[in-house]
Amino acid sequence: MQDRVLAFGCHPDDVEFMAAGTLALLAERGYEIHTATMTGGEVGSPALSRAEIHAVRLKEAAAAAAVIGAHYHYAGGCDLEVEYNEFYRRAATRIVREVDPFIVLTNPPMDYLADHEQTSLLVRNAAYIASVPLYDCGTSAPPTKRFPYLFYWNAMGLKDIFGRPLPLHCVIDVGAAMATKEKMLACHASQRDWLAAHNKMDSYIQTMKELSRGHGRLIGREHGEGFIQHRGHGYPADNILASILPGVCKELPVRGD
Ligand SMILES: [Zn+2]
Repeated sequence: MQDRVLAFGCHPDDVEFMAAGTLALLAERGYEIHTATMTGGEVGSPALSRAEIHAVRLKEAAAAAAVIGAHYHYAGGCDLEVEYNEFYRRAATRIVREVDPFIVLTNPPMDYLADHEQTSLLVRNAAYIASVPLYDCGTSAPPTKRFPYLFYWNAMGLKDIFGRPLPLHCVIDVGAAMATKEKMLACHASQRDWLAAHNKMDSYIQTMKELSRGHGRLIGREHGEGFIQHRGHGYPADNILASILPGVCKELPVRGD
């Protein structure tokens, strides 16, 4: 068994929209995949109560993970309430400690929902402080012994809040994993009607394919998933995705490189 990869998103379906193809490729290559959500998607329903949709969405997230043999974790947060506070810092760090991943994927620092942005900051922070022995996050898992590679997937719509493309470091050719990605996203059946009504998406599967095609165009392939790597102090800065997915991960020139 290879090392562990953690894809930690805000809502059930964030991972499947933006990174499931990459996870499927890594699972195929023997990596142990974990997915996690900060919230249980408690407000994502036009008809069910918060408790009902929460239960449905956790089941859907676990089913999506199971498609590639991944393990699903729920951090304990609530939809539209994610903030950089003690509860969420501890929750995020607990999951990083328990999984002890060598790669972490998460929401981008700038995206259309503040919930996504706060999750990004919390996961980034957790990836770092999971190694601090005196930081108590309420788990018996020991402090981690390494700083994981940290990548952000692209923003929804492939643009930041000012309408600009994010400075992606790489795009993964996920053409070979599209059927699996679609199967994973389709597990989130409760979101079909909700996203159609609230986000004006004709079909969430169709939207996912358009996003994947948008990334594919950047590398001259049919489908892709784009990532920006956190390369600041303390985090490993070589592109591990390019190393472990040769020929599949295409690095992009970034201004300032
Ligand atoms: Zn989301």
